Amino acid sequence: MTCRESKNLLTAYVDGELDSAGSLSMESHIQACASCLAEVENLHALSSAIENGALRFKAPQRLKRNVQAAIRAQNPTVGRTFFGWRWASALASLVLIVAVTWTAATRWARSSEETLLVNDVISSHVRSTMANHITDVASSDSHTVKPWFAGKLDFSPPAKDLTEQGFRLVGGRLDYIDHRPIAALVYRRSQHFINLFVWPSNDTGGTREDELARQGYNLIHWTKSGMTYWLVSELNLTELRECARLLQE
Ligand SMILES: [Zn+2]
Repeated sequence: MTCRESKNLLTAYVDGELDSAGSLSMESHIQACASCLAEVENLHALSSAIENGALRFKAPQRLKRNVQAAIRAQNPTVGRTFFGWRWASALASLVLIVAVTWTAATRWARSSEETLLVNDVISSHVRSTMANHITDVASSDSHTVKPWFAGKLDFSPPAKDLTEQGFRLVGGRLDYIDHRPIAALVYRRSQHFINLFVWPSNDTGGTREDELARQGYNLIHWTKSGMTYWLVSELNLTELRECARLLQE
């Protein structure tokens, strides 16, 4: 047997697929050929590594239980047959991976978008009080403030006068939040300014309210009748809630 013939038959020989005459001539060649002997040894090592499981990875028992529990929770009839089980497992794992990834991604996107918006709202409030530019139109008369926005914005913001209830309307201002020009209505309670930011909302679901405290400011956010509102001030939350309630009336 030549070395070339031997190389072609090496894997069949290692797998025990040659007839006895073939095996004998391979053995006599290998005894005389260091190169073929080395290849035979490599193949033996590889096949025993596979058999011993050294190249396999076994999924942890906990993962298996979690996937099985998730499938049972979704469909109690799944898993009666072995093959149904295996397909269902694979499918459920895929669905879980997609769902978890999708949820995490959208939640992250939504929360980072919201964080940017909150930062925007606070910055605008702080800028308005620090730069001595609290209003563009200074008036406590809503009949002066409301028409002032006409022609400057493509929507008409409310300019409710709450002077009698202890929140004096100071005026209005154009501002820029969430990549668009918006209306800022300014109120005053004792020494504190309150900014009410208003712009049209994409959210068509009814009234929804959130409260949050950031960087020493209180914020109340709601959407109503196609408009989004952000009320922000260093005023305490109880009084700011009162202001929000009056504005929503
Ligand atoms: Zn050889």
